[in-house]
Amino acid sequence: MYFYRKKDKGIEFPEDILIETTNRCNARCVFCHHPKMKRPLTDMSDQLFLKLLGDLKGMTVKTVTPFVSGEIFMDKKIFDRLKLLNHELPGVGIVIYTNGSLLNEEAAEKLSGIKNIRLINFSLNGFEREDYKKRVGLDFEQVVKNIRNVVRLNAGRRFADKITVASVEYGKEDKVKNKRYNDAFCRFCAENFPGVEVKVGYKYNFLSRIFSARGFKDIYCPHLKSMAILANGLVSLCCMDMEGEYILGNANERSLMDIFNGSLAREYRHHRKSHMVPCRSCNMI
Ligand code: SF4
Ligand code: SF4
Repeated sequence: MYFYRKKDKGIEFPEDILIETTNRCNARCVFCHHPKMKRPLTDMSDQLFLKLLGDLKGMTVKTVTPFVSGEIFMDKKIFDRLKLLNHELPGVGIVIYTNGSLLNEEAAEKLSGIKNIRLINFSLNGFEREDYKKRVGLDFEQVVKNIRNVVRLNAGRRFADKITVASVEYGKEDKVKNKRYNDAFCRFCAENFPGVEVKVGYKYNFLSRIFSARGFKDIYCPHLKSMAILANGLVSLCCMDMEGEYILGNANERSLMDIFNGSLAREYRHHRKSHMVPCRSCNMI
């Protein structure tokens, strides 16, 4: 069993909180379930966002990640929300996952005014225009330009502790192509974004909705140390549950601590993944 921070009476605390301020996305990545997602596309209400910030006070979470599924900068209120987060939870770090397409110079300037950014991860997922178009469906040159600009801004202002540029691997089903793609992606990033950490991650099966030849280990899932709050306030098992089918509670009605310490959430945390549905069919771990 992995370690949890416990206080008196066995109360357990989450470390990271994922808040889906929007579940809309402008990309159509072939390795992601989002393009086929049936959940209604929506932004989180201001009322719910404020309620969540209230819940988080005193919970000693390390980071808030405004993401479960979707593209963070599709949320027109995102900069106001990040400022509010800084104000209400001044000790809490912020983690940004983005495809980079909407982070133009104006948006980057606004982002540079946000405090406590621990990480900006650009999910680039390509190194050639045509292949990128097929894999992601966005404007490759614009995205690369945006990433370069943020890297340059951060070199001068250090508003983010770390920037990474990442790709999902091509797919283990074709090992030769996979290696060729992964190596070329790393070379492209080293040349275009000097000094930035590059990551090539596994292709996940999104609970068997996407084909992925990756295997998995039977362990206690570390993602259950986090909470994933969907745009409508339902607390989902994790970001793999993109359809919101495995719900631990409703944050509109209950506090986050109550949900995290509820019997259902504890049951998931206290069992190996092979004992639980849908974890036994998930290859994220
Ligand atoms: S991987 Fe991210 S950017 Fe791509 S479709 Fe899914 S949510 Fe959108
Ligand atoms: S095993 Fe997969 S489905 Fe289960 S909590 Fe972990 S990431 Fe989510």
